[in-house]
Amino acid sequence: MFASAANVEELVSNFRLDGTTFRYSSFVPRLYNYVKSLGFKPGKILPSRAFCSDENQGYPNIILTKHFGTFPFNHGRGGAVVATDRHGPYAEHGEGLVIIQASHVGYEPENKSFGTYSRIHTRDNHHTACCGKLSAIVDWYLEQYRFAQSYIQLEHCNEQMCLRIDNGLLHGSRKEGLFLRLKSLVKPDREGKFVPLHTHSTAKSFIICDEFLRQLPDLNAVLREGERIAIGDHLKPEMFYFRRKLDETVEGRNHQELNLVYPMPWIVTSPWPLLTAAQINSQVEFDRTLRTVARSPCFKDKCVFYIAGLNIDISPKPGDAFPTTKFVPWAAFLRSRKGGERIIEQPELVALLLEQSKENPDQIDMDDAIQGMAEAESVTVETVANL
Ligand SMILES: [Zn+2]
Repeated sequence: MFASAANVEELVSNFRLDGTTFRYSSFVPRLYNYVKSLGFKPGKILPSRAFCSDENQGYPNIILTKHFGTFPFNHGRGGAVVATDRHGPYAEHGEGLVIIQASHVGYEPENKSFGTYSRIHTRDNHHTACCGKLSAIVDWYLEQYRFAQSYIQLEHCNEQMCLRIDNGLLHGSRKEGLFLRLKSLVKPDREGKFVPLHTHSTAKSFIICDEFLRQLPDLNAVLREGERIAIGDHLKPEMFYFRRKLDETVEGRNHQELNLVYPMPWIVTSPWPLLTAAQINSQVEFDRTLRTVARSPCFKDKCVFYIAGLNIDISPKPGDAFPTTKFVPWAAFLRSRKGGERIIEQPELVALLLEQSKENPDQIDMDDAIQGMAEAESVTVETVANL
């Protein structure tokens, strides 16, 4: 999916949060009204969801149930990966099919920060990482990045600006870790080789390349001969990449991590790594899943609307019944009964949703529905042994 660094950068910046964020209670009726306007028949629409397994993803499911009049089919694996091998049974269960995929991230309104969430069912309402699965993946990479930020140092030696790089970051034969794109950091010799100016016990010093030097503040004014400072935030995503041994099975154990390995430099350098990770996971899943929806024969003669985005879980306060989760649409794919296909990008998708009414006359009253179930004539379940 990613052909180059510029490609990742553009994709990340194209995902807008300003003016694109809907409360679930506004998003779902608009979505319902939109698919109805496309010809999906009320009572014959089955939504499905590919959300993470966390309890805070339940609120969107309740709203989907209320507006579509049915509980959504479970189309997701942990980490909001779409279980494409469930397309067949899903397609069998409904006529008009609406797939909603969303990775999620916690948001703390108190300090306007992304990545944690208050677990109000714990004794002390403590705050933990959200999404926990993404956090478990990203932590390893963040650790590698922090090491590199500290152990690559800018230094002034022999009247030249140099980079002193820890030997651990220079071993090219490693199977895993953070690998530097030396071309963007240091000057090659005439033969194009990166030869150190000095070799130390655990590090090597190289002359900084002109392009990188231009991006730095005037170090001559800051650093005296022999002094060093850590590279820190000057280590930009286009200067390194990661390698990690992973199970490459599609929808296997490491599927979500595989989605994120190439764009990981942009995730670890983001002000909100878990927000960027969730956003990229939805973008990669959309690109992958729509191809399976387009090709799968099980969707022949069905109307399918597949929408991907991001769930922002607003951290609840003690006593709140449910979190006020918000949805940010990223893109959608429409496949008509006759096989016509259309991809709708974020700006158009947001405009289409905003055009719809948030009133839904077809929504069900959940209390009435539950009451109805309790009062319905009881059916005796008979088995051979009872006969
Ligand atoms: Zn999660």
